Amino acid sequence: KPILKLEGVTKVYSSGTRHQMVLRDVNLSVFEGEFLAVVGPSGGGKSTLLNILGCLITPDNGSYFVHGKKVNWKSTRQLSHLRGGVLATVFQGFELVSHWAVSENVEVGLRMRSIPKGKRIQTVIEMLRKVGMVQHIHKYPNELSGGEQQRVAIARALCTDPQVLLADEPTGNLDPENTKEILAIFRNLHEQGKTIVMVTHDMKVAEQAQRVVTLRGGRLESGMGFGASDEYA
Ligand code: ADP
Ligand code: ADP
Repeated sequence: KPILKLEGVTKVYSSGTRHQMVLRDVNLSVFEGEFLAVVGPSGGGKSTLLNILGCLITPDNGSYFVHGKKVNWKSTRQLSHLRGGVLATVFQGFELVSHWAVSENVEVGLRMRSIPKGKRIQTVIEMLRKVGMVQHIHKYPNELSGGEQQRVAIARALCTDPQVLLADEPTGNLDPENTKEILAIFRNLHEQGKTIVMVTHDMKVAEQAQRVVTLRGGRLESGMGFGASDEYA
């Protein structure tokens, strides 16, 4: 039984008289506990797809079901509930707040839910442990390497204990060593039962997931559709 399901989803970007169909009749089921990678060339619609799954942008056509319940794109209350609750997104550029310490960046989702300070600190430490960053809790983002910032961004997304973690090019700005470590964190989270959807242009990264689908020209194909290796195993 899928936890997320897209049916006939279409997205068009328009500027003036130019219309670009970025997603074409996309059908996708994400099953509870799976680690799915969406791979494909740059411009293929991966971020758009991930942002629809994350309830951050609205499709033009088609339906989205979370736990079998149809998402109502007009209900800001339902959308914000899904965003901070069932789903959490790790953005491509990390998007940490530069004048906040690591601890403050990680706890932001808990603050929004008025979780008391003691409980927040406890959760922040637990999440930073999961990503191997607890020793950096008092640092600021500009004191961290790219790989470390990505880890903090993952801890921030995990803080509200979402059922599904959505990650946009999580290794896009990282060297091979950091890429390996981020993928190890994802595999670990997957083993602990988290559902993960990761978007990447890198097939060597994608094949570290449990299942791979390809998005090309806005169309979804199952399977990898191009060569593979075990560089990040
Ligand atoms: P990918 O993540 O696979 O690189 P994207 O979903 O980011 O693909 O983009 C798919 C296409 O849609 C690209 O051609 C991109 O330029 C275009 N696009 C993405 N976001 C917007 C936007 N907000 N407005 C207009 N065009 C967009
Ligand atoms: P990488 O090898 O991944 O690029 P860096 O060389 O950027 O990593 O950082 C290595 C270590 O130095 C990290 O633990 C990071 O926290 C620390 N560090 C990097 N820049 C600063 C800084 N401006 N102030 C304090 N610590 C820093």
